[in-house]
Amino acid sequence: MKNIKDYNLEELKQEFVQMGEKPFRAEQVFRWIYKEEVKKFDEMTNLSLELREKLKQNYKMCNYKILKKKQVASDGTIKYLFDVLDGNAIETVLMKYHHGYSICVSSQIGCKMGCKFCASTGIAFVRSLSSGEIVEQLLAVEQDENIKISNVVFMGIGEPMDNYDNVVNAIRIINNPKGINIGARHISVSTSGIVPRIYQLAEENIQCTLSISLHATTDEKRSSMMPVNNRYNLEELLQACKDYTAKTNRRISFEYALAKDNNDNIEDAKRLVKLLHGMLAHVNLIPINKIENGQFDKSPNENIMKFRDYLNEHGIVATIRRELGADIDAACGQLRRKNLKD
Ligand code: SAH
Repeated sequence: MKNIKDYNLEELKQEFVQMGEKPFRAEQVFRWIYKEEVKKFDEMTNLSLELREKLKQNYKMCNYKILKKKQVASDGTIKYLFDVLDGNAIETVLMKYHHGYSICVSSQIGCKMGCKFCASTGIAFVRSLSSGEIVEQLLAVEQDENIKISNVVFMGIGEPMDNYDNVVNAIRIINNPKGINIGARHISVSTSGIVPRIYQLAEENIQCTLSISLHATTDEKRSSMMPVNNRYNLEELLQACKDYTAKTNRRISFEYALAKDNNDNIEDAKRLVKLLHGMLAHVNLIPINKIENGQFDKSPNENIMKFRDYLNEHGIVATIRRELGADIDAACGQLRRKNLKD
């Protein structure tokens, strides 16, 4: 059965027309789901009983069940493991910042990219999530905590650009003022660097923030950490980023996870300054989270601060990301990996 949350408003209107219903009914349903956040067609009280029945026969609502919920008292981060209703589990992380709540959503069940430092590597890829399955993470968390989320980052499990259409559609649903209404500027998509999709995203007219998981400053090093670099090298990746900024006027956020004696040397910082020279960029330095049996160790704080200071002194805005939720395995894929082993 079709998941009603898989449709953006325009598509839902088309669905309704095909069912012989007026498009404004689709808008009513859209409001019920994303503004009122109801979980059942029966709660949509301004629809006739007959229409509610018709909807029930043709669509499912797909409300997630919480399999696990872990909270860190110290920073307010909450990690969810949801049952996506087909026996598979996905992770979503809720983070509390001074400016509001931010949610980190998964885009796939597993990941194909094979980054050497990531907890999803080594676990079989299952499938991509549908747009409704992506959006439901936000609805389920808002309902569970009784909050309104203001920022969405596609930094959970999966490679968003390897599930491009569903991710873009999910953004359109989340962004719609008649529903969840989170501005595109408050939505970030993170990619390991699938270059053709970066060019495509620049043409969508969405204005979301693009985050690039860079992590290294030479092709040799980057390829050793991230196999995707063998397909799209640094030069091609940075060219695509420049195009994204030229088309959207948006600053790019570069993620750089520091691993001891691997990519945390001042020589790396120097090369990074050269690579990003003249770009509208921000660098997010992340102390790498060591995964079980992982080959990378976290850089000492001293190296991280030196790295940041070098960048800042040479015209690149760099900040060290707060390690939210480190004690609940909030890093990419860690909770799911544990659960699979239990
Ligand atoms: N596939 C996408 C989004 C998911 S990963 C991407 O690669 O961007 C989200 C972010 O977490 C990426 O920047 C990724 O490189 C980073 N990451 C993955 N494992 C990590 C680890 N063990 N420590 C620190 N950051 C990690």
